[in-house]
Amino acid sequence: MKFQSTRGKADPCSLSEAIAQGLASDGGLFVPDHWPILKVDKAWAKLPFADFAEKAIAPFAEGDPLALTVPSICQKAFSFALPLRALDAATEVLELFHGPTGSFKDFGARFLALAMNAIPDPRAAQRLVMVATSGDTGGAVAGAFAEFSRIPVVILYPKGRISQRQEKQLTVWGKQVRAFAVEGSFDDCQRLVKSAMADKWFTQTYQIISANSINVARLLPQMAYFAFASVQHWARVGEPVGFIVPSGNVGNATAALWARQIGFPIAKVHFSHNANRAVYDFFLGNPWVPQPTIATLANAMDVGDPSNFERVRWMFPDLMDLRVAASASSTSDDEIRETITRGGAEVWCPHTATAVFARPQLPGRWIIAATAHPAKFETIIEPLIGRKVPVPDTLEALLEKESVSQTIKPNLSALKALI
Ligand SMILES: *Cc1c(COP(=O)(O)O)cnc(C)c1O
Repeated sequence: MKFQSTRGKADPCSLSEAIAQGLASDGGLFVPDHWPILKVDKAWAKLPFADFAEKAIAPFAEGDPLALTVPSICQKAFSFALPLRALDAATEVLELFHGPTGSFKDFGARFLALAMNAIPDPRAAQRLVMVATSGDTGGAVAGAFAEFSRIPVVILYPKGRISQRQEKQLTVWGKQVRAFAVEGSFDDCQRLVKSAMADKWFTQTYQIISANSINVARLLPQMAYFAFASVQHWARVGEPVGFIVPSGNVGNATAALWARQIGFPIAKVHFSHNANRAVYDFFLGNPWVPQPTIATLANAMDVGDPSNFERVRWMFPDLMDLRVAASASSTSDDEIRETITRGGAEVWCPHTATAVFARPQLPGRWIIAATAHPAKFETIIEPLIGRKVPVPDTLEALLEKESVSQTIKPNLSALKALI
C-alpha cells in the first residue's frame, strides 16, 4: 500500500512516511493509492475493539515497517471502553469519549504517539511535536505523548478563550509537554505553528511534527471504530447502518467514508455541522467556498474552511456520487440548546447535539457518533438541564493536578526565546 497526494504532484510514499510528513510535498493530503477490499466476517463482531482495529488497519500498513507494530500499537492505544448502545428502535449511540481526555481525539492521538515511536528517522532526536489548539486536540495529543513517548510537545492555545476544563487538559502533564498561552486568537496560534515550520532556525534545530487532524495516523483508528460499530450492527440486525458524525474539520466523517469504501456495511455518512456551513452549502449544490469561522457552542467544530474536505472531494469528484454516500446538515446554537434542554435522561455535549438534532430528518437506521464527554462542557450544559453533569474518574484525576503554562506574545521570536 502506498499513499498519494490528493493533488497528484507528490511521489507516493509508504504509511510511515505519510505519518512522519503529515502533509504531502505538493500541499495536498495523503490518500491511499488503492482501496483494499476487506472480506468482512460476522465473527469479527465478537472481537474486542483493539483486535478488530488491527485487522481493519493492517491493509494500510502493508509493505511498511509499521505493519509489524500495528498490532501492539492497537493493543496499547485502545485500552478504554467503546460502548455502542441503543437510543430508540432505529438509533444507536457510539460513545467515543471514554479515553483519558474525554473525546474521540484520544483514539488518533494515542495511535499517532505510538506510531511515531516506531518510525525510524535519522533526526529522531530532534523531533518536536507542535499543536495549535482551541478544543480537544491539544489535550489528547499532550496526554498521548506524555504517556507513551519522550518526544517533546509544544502546545499553543489562545489565552482566556478556552474553557477552564479544556485549559486543565492542556497544562497538567509536566514531563516533556509544555503549554503556552498565546496572547491572541486560535488563528494566531495556528499561524505560529505554520511559521515555525517554515522558519530556518526552527527547521534546522528541530524535526517538527504536526499533530493536526490531517495526519493519516489519526484517520486510520477513526476508520476502525466506524467499521467496528457497523459490524456490530450488521451481526445483530443484518443490514447496513448510517453514521451521523458531528463535523468540523471533517476528519472523522472522512474516516467513516474510508470504512464504507473498503467494504464495511455502512449505508451512508451524514455530516452534522454547527453554524459553519461550508460543507452543507456544497451538498446543496453550491460551489465550494471556504467561509470565515463562526464561533458556536460546539467550539471543536468551529471551522470555516475544513481541510479534510479535500479528501472527500478527491474520493467523490462528482456531487451526485457524493450524495449517494453522504449527506449534510447545519445546526444553529438555538437548536443545539434546545436539543440539550430536551434531552431528558440523556446528557448531550454541544457537538453530539448537532447529530441528535439531525436524526429525526433522516430515514432508516443510524448510529450517532458521540464525540465528547458532556462533563467537558458543563458551563454550557448545566444551566440548560438544571442539574450537575457527573465527572468521570479520568477527567476528575486531571482536574486535581496542577496547571503549568507560560504566557507568550503571538510572535515567533517570543516562542524561540522560551523553547
Ligand atoms: C474535533 C471534534 C469534532 C470535529 O471533528 P472533525 O474531525 O474535525 O470533523 C467534533 N466534536 C468534538 C467533540 C471534537 O473534539
